[in-house]
Amino acid sequence: MTSTWVPGADATPYTVANLPYGIFSRPGEPARAGVRIGDHVLDLAPVLHDEVFATGSLNGFLARGRTAWRDTRRLLQRLLAADTREVSANRAALEPHLIPLRQVRLHLPVEIGDYVDFYCSLEHASNVGRMFRPGGEPLMPNWRHLPVGYHGRSGTVVVSGTPIVRPRGQRVEAPGGEPVLAPTAKLDIEAELGFVLGTPTRLGENAGDFAEHVFGVVLVNDWSARDIQAWEYVPLGPFLGKSFATSVSAWVTPLEALAEARVPGRAQDPEPLDYLRRSEPWGLDLTMEVALNGDVVSTPPYQEMYWTPDQMLAHLTVNGASVRTGDLYASGTVSGAEPSQRGSLLEITWNGTEPVKLSDGQSRGFLEDGDTVTITATAPGPGGTRIALGEVTGTILPNAR
Ligand code: CA
Repeated sequence: MTSTWVPGADATPYTVANLPYGIFSRPGEPARAGVRIGDHVLDLAPVLHDEVFATGSLNGFLARGRTAWRDTRRLLQRLLAADTREVSANRAALEPHLIPLRQVRLHLPVEIGDYVDFYCSLEHASNVGRMFRPGGEPLMPNWRHLPVGYHGRSGTVVVSGTPIVRPRGQRVEAPGGEPVLAPTAKLDIEAELGFVLGTPTRLGENAGDFAEHVFGVVLVNDWSARDIQAWEYVPLGPFLGKSFATSVSAWVTPLEALAEARVPGRAQDPEPLDYLRRSEPWGLDLTMEVALNGDVVSTPPYQEMYWTPDQMLAHLTVNGASVRTGDLYASGTVSGAEPSQRGSLLEITWNGTEPVKLSDGQSRGFLEDGDTVTITATAPGPGGTRIALGEVTGTILPNAR
């Protein structure tokens, strides 16, 4: 594996094989683009002499397309490498633009266009079906034929670290009861992977090759108010139980950094229609970790997802709907087959009936005010190493209304 001259970086999961992109600022300075290397961020505009990186979002760079993404990544890897003949000159040129992470604030990396959330875990969909429709078939008849999804609210996608105010909404206290307007009593998380669109499609066109359109991935926490959701979701799906906030990691990991994580998708039965047939392995071997107040409560395995992200994009555009630079679509809650692999408290605590015990002696059915949830993930990198995706974290604030 290529090593770097950046002090300490080779000992972190943010090596030259990773290089996620983000938007950062220092106090009193405008926000601009950088890549993370070790515990530093490299300020890209002065290093690459390119004003596209001097703006407050990655959208301009994402719109340039796959060749530009690859060329920029290769150039950065060369400039940061320890084993080139130009290492002294490169180091002298770049070092003034290498900023310790502790000095910067991270911002939403992308100006989000449309936001879609899928529902691609067989185990998650089955668990939710059992809880929300007891006695019925856990999966709807369509589930194995298409990646089910809905349009979410892009304006409330927030960067990791943004506090989450407990939402209020209409809910019923007990089945058959009258609705009340109150803060949610069932505030939950959903650990998901999000896909950031770079190259757009035209109206009436279907997206082609997944990697031509999708630039990279973010970690997503799709905060959910289960009591509001359960009362409102029939027949048109999630609405106010989801739209109050969706958190994403500050770092966007390029697909190219995930080359070693690519695996064949999970076997599908029945065989999907032709437009959903997989042509390349886009299952991703990511290990996710969900921590509640510092205690790991789940380790969802992304590679067990039933629908792969290339299938999600094919489905998203099969009707001719266009996608734009900066659009985001998320996988849906990542839940594995084991109870320790469930990506929501709804499933971990079985709708609050089996509270999870924390190391400080407390237990939780759903989130309480002051709770902090942090989702992290790692993936295989070159030569047996592992790379990390940027974390997504958030702390619950009380509803003061
Ligand atoms: Ca979700």
